[in-house]
Amino acid sequence: MKCPYCSQPESKVVDSRDSETGEAVRRRRECLSCHKRFTTYERVEAVPLWVVKKDGRREEFNRRKLIGGLVNASTKRDIASAQLEAIADEVESALRARNVTEVRSIEVGEMVMQHLRTLDEIAYVRFASVYRSFRDVQQMRATIEDVLANPPGTRPPEAPRRRRRRADDGRELPLDMGK
Ligand SMILES: [Zn+2]
Repeated sequence: MKCPYCSQPESKVVDSRDSETGEAVRRRRECLSCHKRFTTYERVEAVPLWVVKKDGRREEFNRRKLIGGLVNASTKRDIASAQLEAIADEVESALRARNVTEVRSIEVGEMVMQHLRTLDEIAYVRFASVYRSFRDVQQMRATIEDVLANPPGTRPPEAPRRRRRRADDGRELPLDMGK
């Protein structure tokens, strides 16, 4: 670890403690050459999560790629990118919570679709058509009919409209009394 002041490689640790989040160890070091102090952080490298595809190939779980698929499915739908990020976060943390190193791509897709379905049916059907590689229009129709027959029970609330002032607002505060 080179000293940031004089670039000499030798230093000694003068203090060591966990960072506030517990995800890193913070070390205070002193350069043996110029005696200035600096800080280093040591982190655990994230354990790779492998996605096993239908043809047996494995590729590392790629959050950006997952979001890319969500963005494509959501084109021209009224969905904030933060909502897509949230889906990716939830799916990734659910997968990592399993403490396995491999997961089948089909499971990842189904998890994503569960979230997407409660968010936006059109995006859901689009995602499903790519993901499940519908062979023909009959398969897509079956998916759409299923959506129509089972509307999401956990639909997120509509975007908040400008709050309407209720007639009785402020009635406990008769500030204009005596005017
Ligand atoms: Zn130095």
